[in-house]
Amino acid sequence: MGGVALLALQAIVYFGVMAALLRARRVYGVGLFVCALGVMHFLETYLAAVFFIELPFGLLSPGSTVLFSGKLMMFLLLYIREDAETVRQPIYGLFIGNLLLVVLALILRLHTTVVRLPGDAPNLQFVDQMGVLMVWGTLLLFIDCIALILLYENLARRLRRNVVLAAFLSAAAVLSFDQIAFYPALRLTSGVPFSALTGGWVAKIGAAALYSVLIGVYLRWIERDGQRRGSRGLRDVFETLTYRSRYEDLLRRSLIDELTGVRNRSAFEQMCRDWLERPAPDGQAVTLAMIDIDRFKAINDGLGHAAGDEVLRHVGRTLEANMRPGDLVFRYGGEEFALLLKGLSHNEALAFADRVRRAVASEVRAVDGGSVTVSIGVASSAFGSGNLRSLLDRADQRLYEAKRRGRDRVVGDPAPRLTIAD
Ligand code: GH3
Ligand code: MG
Ligand code: MG
Repeated sequence: MGGVALLALQAIVYFGVMAALLRARRVYGVGLFVCALGVMHFLETYLAAVFFIELPFGLLSPGSTVLFSGKLMMFLLLYIREDAETVRQPIYGLFIGNLLLVVLALILRLHTTVVRLPGDAPNLQFVDQMGVLMVWGTLLLFIDCIALILLYENLARRLRRNVVLAAFLSAAAVLSFDQIAFYPALRLTSGVPFSALTGGWVAKIGAAALYSVLIGVYLRWIERDGQRRGSRGLRDVFETLTYRSRYEDLLRRSLIDELTGVRNRSAFEQMCRDWLERPAPDGQAVTLAMIDIDRFKAINDGLGHAAGDEVLRHVGRTLEANMRPGDLVFRYGGEEFALLLKGLSHNEALAFADRVRRAVASEVRAVDGGSVTVSIGVASSAFGSGNLRSLLDRADQRLYEAKRRGRDRVVGDPAPRLTIAD
């Protein structure tokens, strides 16, 4: 059992240092973590090819058990704390670096005179062997990482964010696949005996368990998994990991609300400032309509969060469908939307908002068939007036007033004659 204890010690030291580097990324940058991960790669492949120990359940290499499994788990942790955009960088970096290594090794053999130092002949056959293992290993790592992250995302949702169990199950599945796929390369290059296939597998499952617990500890006590980004679809994560969605997509997506597909709060702030700071040549007004779904909490509580989400999507679609060209729809937060309209007098804006209100009431249904209504507060301002705060405050006050008066209505200017309600 001394062997197992030593492996566990290596895993804990490895995890401890890597986790400390990860934790320090906000201060020192993520480069430290990524470089250290890359350096370990050489030792890992070297050990996996030649350094085996014998334990009761078979032969295994600390290179695969501690370092390879560890690296995969560090990628998972990086994904959990950051995102797919960050994790794809070292995955591709390692792969390209390994290809470069093989290419340089090929060029090296073109040297005609190689000085032999006493007792230390350069062993190009060894470099070749390592090259094959590294390229095959990182190709597998690439597949493993993507599979691990997608499996983890999927399981974490089903297991209600039980991080440790989700990490363990996904890592165990991926490492099992990896063991079967990597062994033939080991067998071919180093003639590693068959008992290393099973021994290595048991060891990797053990490593998956230990690292999952360590990840759980890290997320609980070192860096809480609190403010995780909104969960993205698996397809979206896949496309990001494989660089199928590019930077512009990210930029665009960062202004789009993921749930409803309308523009988000950041887009709202940007557009509002833009509109309010830019003088309109013909002195048009900017209208802000703040929309809040009525008694939305009851939909969530009675029909479930998923039904609530569906209502949000449907409201978003209905708003978009009722806009004129150039009008903008935003999800301001929770169950609140905002419309930015231009070129309307205040009365026209009220009539417009009321059409929108009626469209929602007649078109949007919850899953139980119940209708959904909204209250709307309308405020207008001149282009170029620059005062976003005041516009927001006025729209908000009027929205509050619409709620107070019984909901499902539009409130504009405080004077009662401008109120449209039925
Ligand atoms: P009122 O007519 O006064 O607006 O009543 P309300 O129930 O709509 O008001 P309240 O602001 O108390 O409830 C808003 C609820 O919206 C609370 C929150 O749980 C829910 N919510 C916020 N964001 C989301 C979301 O993304 N999805 C779902 N399903 N619910 C959300
Ligand atoms: Mg609200
Ligand atoms: Mg509401």
